[in-house]
Amino acid sequence: MPSSYTPKGNKKNSFIKWSLLIVSIVAISAAALWFFLQPTNSPANINDAAQNEVQTSQKPIEEQPKEEKAEEDKVEEPKETDSVKEPETVKQPEETKEEVKKEEPKKEEPKEAQPKEEAASEPKKQETTKNAAGYSDTTKLPKTPTVINGILLVNKQHPLPETYAPGEGKEARAAFEKMREKALDDGIDLVAFSTYREFARQKELYNGYVAKDGQKAADRYSARPGYSEHQTGLAFDIGEAGQEQHWASASFGDTKGGKWLAKNAHNYGFILRYPTGSESITGYMHESWHFRYVGQKAATEIYNKGVTLEQYLGV
Ligand SMILES: [Zn+2]
Repeated sequence: MPSSYTPKGNKKNSFIKWSLLIVSIVAISAAALWFFLQPTNSPANINDAAQNEVQTSQKPIEEQPKEEKAEEDKVEEPKETDSVKEPETVKQPEETKEEVKKEEPKKEEPKEAQPKEEAASEPKKQETTKNAAGYSDTTKLPKTPTVINGILLVNKQHPLPETYAPGEGKEARAAFEKMREKALDDGIDLVAFSTYREFARQKELYNGYVAKDGQKAADRYSARPGYSEHQTGLAFDIGEAGQEQHWASASFGDTKGGKWLAKNAHNYGFILRYPTGSESITGYMHESWHFRYVGQKAATEIYNKGVTLEQYLGV
């Protein structure tokens, strides 16, 4: 029955045609959709590309230790999120690599340098602590004074024998008088209001300060008996006549006389024994009035170097 078959055949053919057409449309649509959905310039894609570049560029250096990689990651993270410009996508990883390479030694240098510095400074700290003016409770007064390079040293680690009683140093007194004459020319009338102090007197003074301010405070401004530089006869507390309000006071350093002494005393063999900021070395807070006779040569060297007597003598 061709007549009856024909429509059926036509129906079949048209069904196949439509099916093919629909399939084709679906396939084309899918392809178009896939093509359309392919992201081209989105930041995310560039990041992916950059990451791929980084990964590929990292391949040759994958043998590097894991720590270095971790550092690279740290460096790259902000770069990727910050810059998303298309032309830089290829360069970025290279630049990052270079930066990382450059930074690697920089990062390591301080790490290595720090321990060295610490190691170098540790002994200094220990020395400072050792010299830091603390009294050693086990230290008994010695039988002989400490003399280094011909210079008598007295501090909280180097006391004097109780019997050490030389009186005021004659050479020191002569030097002071010479200095006083010179200062008078500049209109400054210097007075040495306290010089030699014997052991018993220092004991009396110190005990009085302890009773008044307590031992901790007294130890900052007064020496225990046997530990006073005044017992050497070479320490001169200097002020200005008519300026008694500044005697043994920090304010003396701000007066004309105090400034003159700080600038000129070394020419006469005297040093400012307890300079500002040296309490950890000398054991005493700044005393603008306390000068110590060490002789012109040593005094000038100490003045020019800007060091304390302890540092000059290397203790
Ligand atoms: Zn003094």
